[in-house]
Amino acid sequence: MSLLVQKYGGTSVGTVERIQAVADKVAACRGLGNDVVVVVSAMSGETNRLIGLASQMQATPDPREMDVLLSTGEQTTIALLCMALKARGCESRSYTGSQVRILTDDSHTKARIQSIDEHNMRSDLSNGKVVVVAGFQGVDEKGNITTLGRGGSDTTAVALAAALNADECQIYTDVDGVYTTDPRVVSSACRLDKITFEEMLEMASLGSKVLQIRAVEFAGKYNVPLRVLHSFQEGPGTLITLDEELNVMEQPVVSGIAFNRDEAKVTVQGIPDIPGVASRILTPVGEANIEVDVIVQNVAADNTTDLTFTVNRIDMDKAKTVLEAVVVELGAGQIITDDSITKVSIVGVGMRSHAGVAATMFKTLAEENINIQMITTSEIKISVIVDERYLELAVRSLHSAFGLDQSN
Ligand code: ADP
Ligand code: ASP
Ligand code: MG
Repeated sequence: MSLLVQKYGGTSVGTVERIQAVADKVAACRGLGNDVVVVVSAMSGETNRLIGLASQMQATPDPREMDVLLSTGEQTTIALLCMALKARGCESRSYTGSQVRILTDDSHTKARIQSIDEHNMRSDLSNGKVVVVAGFQGVDEKGNITTLGRGGSDTTAVALAAALNADECQIYTDVDGVYTTDPRVVSSACRLDKITFEEMLEMASLGSKVLQIRAVEFAGKYNVPLRVLHSFQEGPGTLITLDEELNVMEQPVVSGIAFNRDEAKVTVQGIPDIPGVASRILTPVGEANIEVDVIVQNVAADNTTDLTFTVNRIDMDKAKTVLEAVVVELGAGQIITDDSITKVSIVGVGMRSHAGVAATMFKTLAEENINIQMITTSEIKISVIVDERYLELAVRSLHSAFGLDQSN
C-alpha cells in the first residue's frame, strides 16, 4: 500500500465524461488499498475564461479580487470529482486551498507556499477517504485567497506530496511523459524514461510548460519522487530523478530542446561607453518589476555601445516607457523594440563533459539559414534568440542534429 498524490490537469478534467473517467481511475487506485490525495486543475479553458471576464471589469484587475475569481475554477472541479467518487461508492472529501490551509505569502496571482497543515488530510486518509484538493490556490496569513501562478496546480501537488511524505507524486496530463521537446511541435520527439531535476528545471524555466518551474524546484528541494504520466493511457511515464541515479556515461549530450514564444527584445542604441551605463539602464527596468532575461552589449568604434535585452512580451512596452527618460539623460540614441523573436534552448547534463556542443548548434542553425540574434549559455544549456518565423525549423533541425529523433 502506498500514499500517492495524483494531479489531474485541465484537459484531463475538461468535461463531465473526463471527470467521471478520472473518478474511475482514482476509485480503482483506492480500491487497491492505496491512500490517495488528488489535486485537480480547473476544467480546461476555465481559468482563461475567468481572466477574460475580469478584463471586462477593470483594465488592470485588482489582484486580490483576481485570486478570489480564479480560485473558483478549481473549486468547481473538486466538488464535481467528489460527487463522481461518491457515486462510485468511494468515500472522499474536497478541500479548497484555504480549507487545507495551504499557507502562502501575500503576493496575489504569484504567491509562494510557506507551509501546509496536513492534519485534516491525514485524518481523512486514516478513515479510508480519498482527499481531493483544489490546485493552484492557498490562503495568506490574513485569510485572503491567493493563487500560485499559471500552471500552479503542479506545485500544489508536489508541495502536498512533500508535506505528506508521499511515496510518489504523479502528474497526470494529456501527454504520456516528458519528451525531448514539445511533441505537439516536433512529431518525432521521444518520451524520456528519466530526466534529472536539474535538466527538468532548465526545460521548465526555458519554456517547456509540461511542469511548472516551482513544482520542479520543490520536488528537487524536498526530494519528492515525481512522475509525469498520461491521464488515460497506461504507461511508465517519465520519472524526474536525481543526477546520481542516472548513468552519466549513458547520458546523451543533449537531453531536450525547449522554446519560449513569450520573449521580446529591447535595444538601446548609441549609449556612451562609460562605466555604469548598463546599471543606469537595467536598474529602472528591474525596479519596474520587469524581469530581464538575455542581455547583450556591443561596443562600436565610435565609443558608443548598443545594449539589447529580452523581457516577457507583455512587459515590452512598459520597458520602453521606463527607459525613455534614461535615454535622454544619457544622451543615447533610439530605443528599438521587437516582439517577433523566440528563444530556443538545448539542455543536457551531458554538455558538462562534451566539447563542441555550441559549435554543432550554431552550424545546424547556419545550415538552415537561421540568423542567431543573441546567445546565452550556462553549464547545462545554450539558448539562442531567433526570429519567431524560424522557431519550428530551428527546433526540428536541432532535434535531429543532436540525435533525438525517434528512429535514433
Ligand atoms: P495540464 O493541463 O495537464 O497541466 P499542460 O498543458 O500544462 O497540461 O502541459 C502539458 C503540455 O505540455 C503538453 O500538451 C505539451 O504540448 C506541452 N509540452 C511542452 N514541452 C513538453 C515536453 N518537453 N514534453 C511533454 N510535453 C511538453
Ligand atoms: N488552472 C490554472 C491554470 O490554468 C492552474 C493549473 O491548471 O495548473 O493555469
Ligand atoms: Mg500544466
